[in-house]
Amino acid sequence: MLSSARNGQVLVIGSANEDHVLTVDALPVPGATVLAGSSTLTAGGKGANQAVAAARGGADTAFVAALGADDRGARLRAALEGAGVDTRLVGRRPGAPTGLAVVTVAASGENAIVVAAGANAELDADAVEAALADATPAHLVVVQCEIPVPAVCRALEVAGRRGAFAILNLAPFVALPERALRAVGLLVVNESEARAALGERPGAAGRAVDDLAPALAARFGCAVVVTLGARGARCRTREGRDVTVPAHPVPDAVDTTGAGDAFVGFLAAALARGADLADAARTASVAAALSVQRPGAQASFPALAEVDAVLA
Ligand code: ATP
Repeated sequence: MLSSARNGQVLVIGSANEDHVLTVDALPVPGATVLAGSSTLTAGGKGANQAVAAARGGADTAFVAALGADDRGARLRAALEGAGVDTRLVGRRPGAPTGLAVVTVAASGENAIVVAAGANAELDADAVEAALADATPAHLVVVQCEIPVPAVCRALEVAGRRGAFAILNLAPFVALPERALRAVGLLVVNESEARAALGERPGAAGRAVDDLAPALAARFGCAVVVTLGARGARCRTREGRDVTVPAHPVPDAVDTTGAGDAFVGFLAAALARGADLADAARTASVAAALSVQRPGAQASFPALAEVDAVLA
């Protein structure tokens, strides 16, 4: 299925944010001021997280993104490089601040998140096309939806033109035009994104979880993985085979932030090594389970050796 993705190279195109995480007893109501118990700065953004996860998963990984020319951007670049991600195609936008997410987490686990896209909003379609023209032809391209929709579409179209295998993580959900979707080889979504992509209304009785991946595959004409948190994942291969991947059991899930990104990055890295979809999803499931046992996103992603030790 993935003969075009066999040499281990992954190109991730997407967002990079710095996450300011504030812990509070309870989320503030409108007009209120509350004191945070702690505040931490971490590297985030779905694109950056998935690039770091793919590199930890053993892939030769390059990243296309836009950062501001500020301290936040410098910290994010250092985090990417520290993880072994090739950042030569990460551009600097001197006129825009680096993306910022303020994440407020209550003791109940509820959160409220405000994102200022900043430089991510300047990663437009032409910038993506120019970056891809400079990239070593990648065998596997990974795109999410925290950058402008025209950039997502162009990334998929160029990947298709160049014969790369395109993975679309439709997160957060946005409606994409048919033409862009035609280039997708593998769609990865969580349950709510799956339901949104199928046009199910939030809260309405919808399909059984086992029916989501087959329905998406029929609709979009590609392989599909639906992730279901602690309930694991369901895959529909291109050949029409349904595979249930149980979650790897964890004694204590301390922080699920970035679990989906760990899953996508490790999935891409395994596919790029030539694994089939079911085996790649099993590897991704273990990596994501290890990540939920540690705080943070990128900082929580395991090394491939840890994942292999569990799988052995
Ligand atoms: P997030 O937005 O938190 O990054 P997501 O909604 O994109 O996550 P999920 O479906 O919640 O994605 O989780 C992705 C994968 O992570 C799951 O398919 C599963 O393999 C793993 N996972 C998530 N939560 C747990 C858990 N509590 N125990 C074990 N594995 C988990």
